[in-house]
Amino acid sequence: MITKAYIKSMAAEMGFAAACFCLPKSEDDAPADVRCFVLLLKSYGPKNGLTDAFYIAKNDSYADMKKLIGRFEEMGIRTWVLSNLRLKDIASRCGLRQGLNTLHYHRALGSKFCMELIGLDVVPAGENETPEQATLSCESCKRCMSACPGGAITANGFVKEKCIRFYMIGGKSMPLHLRNFVGGSGGSYAMIGCDVCQRVCPANQNIEKLRGMEKETDFTLEELLLCSDETLERFGEMYGRNYAVRNRVIAQALLAAGNSGNEAYLPLIVAYKDSASPIVREYAAWAEEKMKNLQKIY
Ligand code: SF4
Ligand code: SF4
Repeated sequence: MITKAYIKSMAAEMGFAAACFCLPKSEDDAPADVRCFVLLLKSYGPKNGLTDAFYIAKNDSYADMKKLIGRFEEMGIRTWVLSNLRLKDIASRCGLRQGLNTLHYHRALGSKFCMELIGLDVVPAGENETPEQATLSCESCKRCMSACPGGAITANGFVKEKCIRFYMIGGKSMPLHLRNFVGGSGGSYAMIGCDVCQRVCPANQNIEKLRGMEKETDFTLEELLLCSDETLERFGEMYGRNYAVRNRVIAQALLAAGNSGNEAYLPLIVAYKDSASPIVREYAAWAEEKMKNLQKIY
């Protein structure tokens, strides 16, 4: 009989910072033969630059989960990849606490982790140790609510249509007032991603101390604006093939270029106004207008 301790050690070998367990409920919509969930946490550090480290970790975590599934299969245990289920309820049942910003927290990792979920057709033996709870004082804190540039965190809950991340690389046209925050200086609002509501959270402050210590592996804005085959290939390797859609990468880069106020990008911005892609044309026109306002060049 496989044990929870053994699964945790295998998960650690695959680079997961933690593995937690809970039993399925009918409302989870898991396949009927699933008898136990294994929630895997892949941690990441904070990162400055044009892209948020979450997306890199998420891409890695999927590949590492597949390796772990291979180990289960060698042991004759049937598995299901269930990361598309509603993970928030499952994470709470696994003992993680949810903050006002809707993200889950682990005492040691803060909110800086991404999650994968595997279903097993067995219930592993051993105590179900829940992770040590993170200290969250949301009632008296509310820092994430004040800091969110889109006003997505409200007293009545989270409004996803007001969150910058909702529009990242998805091909949806971002509301005008949110565009100003894309690619902001210092990486507060990345070209891809936004971590403001995590950055200000007291429960992440130990992790935030590591900011700036990471090896720089980012792209330059010029590379992303030009988006050559080679850049797109590297982008797909780091962030996942789903995100490596040329027009969407260029569209996000255009918003960041407009906000940069750097006139060197202007010829490229103007050239994209004739793009065949509606979102690229729309963002190029916006970026040119933003550049005009920042530089007062016309
Ligand atoms: S910033 Fe404050 S209110 Fe927001 S999740 Fe963290 S502790 Fe809770
Ligand atoms: S990710 Fe950014 S926009 Fe979305 S809720 Fe957090 S701070 Fe607000």
